[in-house]
Amino acid sequence: MAVKDLKISEILEDILKAYPEDQELIRKAFEFSLEKHEGQKRKSGDPYITHSLNVAKILSDLRMDAVTVSAGLLHDVLEDTDTTYEELKDAFGEEIANIVEGVTKIGRINFRNLREAQAENFRKLIIATAKDIRVVIVKLADRLHNMRTLGYLSREKRIRIAEETLEVYAPIAHRLGIWEIKRELEDLAFKHLYPKEYEKVRKFVSQSLEDLEAYLKKFVIPRVKEDLSRAGIRAEISYRPKHLYSIWQKTIRKNIKLEEVHDILGVRIIVRTVPDCYTVLGIIHSVFKPVPGKFKDYISLPKPNLYQSLHTTVVAPKGRMVEFQIRTEEMHLRAEKGIAAHWAYKEGKERAEGEEIFSWLRDLVENIQGSRNPAEVLDNIKRELFSEEVFVFTPKGDLVVLPAGATPVDFAYHIHTEIGNHCAGAKVNGRIVPLNYRLRSGDQVEIITSPTKKPNPDWLKFVVTGKAKSKIKQFIKQMERERFLNEGRRILEKVRDHTNLSTEDLIKKLRTKVRIKDEEDLLIALGSGRIPIERVISLISPKKREKTRREVPEGKGEVSVEDLGSVLYDLGKCCNPVPGDEVYGVVTRGKGIVLHEKNCSNLKYLMENFPEKVLKVKWKPSGKFRTRIRVRAKDRIGILSEITSKIAENDSNIWEAVTKTTGEEAIMEFTIDVTDRKHLLRILRSIKTVEGVERCLRVYS
Ligand code: MN
Repeated sequence: MAVKDLKISEILEDILKAYPEDQELIRKAFEFSLEKHEGQKRKSGDPYITHSLNVAKILSDLRMDAVTVSAGLLHDVLEDTDTTYEELKDAFGEEIANIVEGVTKIGRINFRNLREAQAENFRKLIIATAKDIRVVIVKLADRLHNMRTLGYLSREKRIRIAEETLEVYAPIAHRLGIWEIKRELEDLAFKHLYPKEYEKVRKFVSQSLEDLEAYLKKFVIPRVKEDLSRAGIRAEISYRPKHLYSIWQKTIRKNIKLEEVHDILGVRIIVRTVPDCYTVLGIIHSVFKPVPGKFKDYISLPKPNLYQSLHTTVVAPKGRMVEFQIRTEEMHLRAEKGIAAHWAYKEGKERAEGEEIFSWLRDLVENIQGSRNPAEVLDNIKRELFSEEVFVFTPKGDLVVLPAGATPVDFAYHIHTEIGNHCAGAKVNGRIVPLNYRLRSGDQVEIITSPTKKPNPDWLKFVVTGKAKSKIKQFIKQMERERFLNEGRRILEKVRDHTNLSTEDLIKKLRTKVRIKDEEDLLIALGSGRIPIERVISLISPKKREKTRREVPEGKGEVSVEDLGSVLYDLGKCCNPVPGDEVYGVVTRGKGIVLHEKNCSNLKYLMENFPEKVLKVKWKPSGKFRTRIRVRAKDRIGILSEITSKIAENDSNIWEAVTKTTGEEAIMEFTIDVTDRKHLLRILRSIKTVEGVERCLRVYS
């Protein structure tokens, strides 16, 4: 096809010149696009190809690779012509076809329809769902050319597109560090959205520039140049005005007048090495007085978009403030082109210093993963920059935003609690995945539910959303409540079997004694062990307990409590075990283990009815232990004091003494402390020697 328009062929030649090795590919993409868009016109009246070609030119100016430039030429053929993806793939290969498809997909997302998704989410969505970051760069180039030609559209459309540019695309360019594009997008949007303010700022800048330039040329630049050459530093010194939008933003942010913005022109010094940057800084600070608090070292602390430079503001002659930006060539290229510099680097590889340029990219990757594969590099950068969230889709295509690391279970609970509670499996992009699969942006997620499926406590190990966590915990709690309820019922029935009470009466009796009004709560208290079985037993008739007296069978296992200082255990209040006793532990949920002496009647009852709760325990602690003894004797004057002195003689203390007399006979109970069983037996034997003592025994319960 012949290209008649001179402008078109000029731009094409410019591009081709920049890619001497890939002219064939680029020319082919141009011809294909030209033919497909034939007859189509832009609102400006220009043939459609001017748009595609200019997008390619923007990409070539960014020094993107030939694949991206070709994709730029083809970026609208899927959306605006009858071309199919297959056709594109056959003609140009999968890489180019995928980029064009990605650009088309982004174009179909209507910003207005995504009102609930905030601009920030939308920005992230675009980046995160684009499998290849070049898709986003082509989209930015597309948007830039559309902004340049915005004037031909209706006012309403202009406003909408300019707003979207300012809210979505300029920040993306910023995030990717593509300063050139960000600056132009913002100024174009500014012009259409706030024409009056734009004009005001433009006038102010052009008027001030003349004066500023003259000032710099006379008082600043020669001085700096002289000192740098004396120090033997090779440097390029230039100055460039800040873009209009940023100046306007500054007046708003700082609530100042335009005339008060002094740094509309910054001096840029580009040197060869990082040490040179600091040397230059030192020279500038020795020539002019630095303004305190204005020095920023973005070399050792790069901005999140990897921008690096030294910034300083100084007081130059006549008291004027001048800002300096000092950086290396590599930093400069990156500052202007951001992530696009990656391809610029690839192209310039033959250059001698090539290996040293863009070491930052390698550093970044090493920081992330240690990989050197370029595709992985970009993927990692993408993930690093946008790591907080994942963007996934329902089978119907609705967008779901989840925190990074989210799993299908998180997704299920996000959709609905019932879907989470009955989640049986998950498919991602049509394939079955484990429930702990980490979702990735762009995944389409389908949850398989089953009415019989229940939440698994193990899910708590991998879910990340608060909703999933709390719902799973809530379910587990509910399940536990049911288990305690059943256990409580079982305990109650067993206890009832040893009484002559009905279940109802038993519950009534227990309820008044333990002061729990609700029957269910009472059963749960029993089942969970919050009310120990021993307590229940002591509340019912002692006669019934006598019936259960039997030899204690061996417990199922043996636990050693002696070394386990942290094991929660208690001593039975009924039998008051002391070291040296043969002891058994009764396992109580929430209360640890309660130890009982072998002959304790409560223990026997528990052994018989709840053998699974009883364990043989080795228990040999040291210290003093309280226990109770009962003495029966003929009552006579002085017998109590004789008995208490026997106790004292044997190095024991009495904590409590209760005596009863029935005329002839005296029954005395003492709570004493002993070190162990032997000590106790010695005391008992000693008391037996007292005249009139008939029996002397340890007391159980
Ligand atoms: Mn386009």
